[in-house]
Amino acid sequence: MNIIILGAPGAGKGTLSDALVKELGIPKISTGDMLRKEVKDCTPLGLKAKEIMARGALVSDQIINELLRNRVKQNDCKKGFMLDGFPRTINQAEELFKITEELGYKIDLVIDLVVSEELIVKRLTNRRVCRKCGGNFNLFSSHSKKPGICDFCGGELYQRADDNEATIRNRLQVYAKDTQPLINYYAKKGLLTELAADNGVLEMVKAFKKIVMEQKIK
Ligand code: AMP
Repeated sequence: MNIIILGAPGAGKGTLSDALVKELGIPKISTGDMLRKEVKDCTPLGLKAKEIMARGALVSDQIINELLRNRVKQNDCKKGFMLDGFPRTINQAEELFKITEELGYKIDLVIDLVVSEELIVKRLTNRRVCRKCGGNFNLFSSHSKKPGICDFCGGELYQRADDNEATIRNRLQVYAKDTQPLINYYAKKGLLTELAADNGVLEMVKAFKKIVMEQKIK
């Protein structure tokens, strides 16, 4: 099963896809996580991306498309994959179509996570991420058992540089301008299904399974 998870920053794409990795046994591909690793490793790409990400702007399609192409070609994607944070522009969606066609894959389902802007800002300003394993926590809804420590691996929790209110507002504007048109794009292809994302992860997983069953996706 090849899935795209769409939704504004903070809609819960990472949380849902992390939960689905275990359920479906397919990898999650998060371009945001891939870029953060490049930044952490101080690679030439990371050095370029760092400032763009801190502003909440988008890294160029050319760079991201190449990153994605190389990742999807890897063997673990043969059994399926989940895209979190890609595509973010129509150009990326068109490139994705070419990449999947070349590899003999097709996208089976596009999930659009729907959530209010108010809840997004609350979620993102309270989000804490594990430096070691990338696990997601939230100070107001799903905090770790020990403050500042990851429940999964004991790593240190930190606040992402782009999770401050000014950058969040910018990311939401960028989302409305560049990414929201993808909703229509995939709706026209008959691939889009909306999923209410204002509840917890268990409810989202349940709703996701219902969609997959109803649409007979394998
Ligand atoms: P995310 O972790 O998905 O919220 O992404 C964090 C940041 O990485 C975004 O605000 C962008 O600066 C950058 N980024 C991630 N994915 C993409 C993408 N598909 N296209 C362009 N920039 C991206």
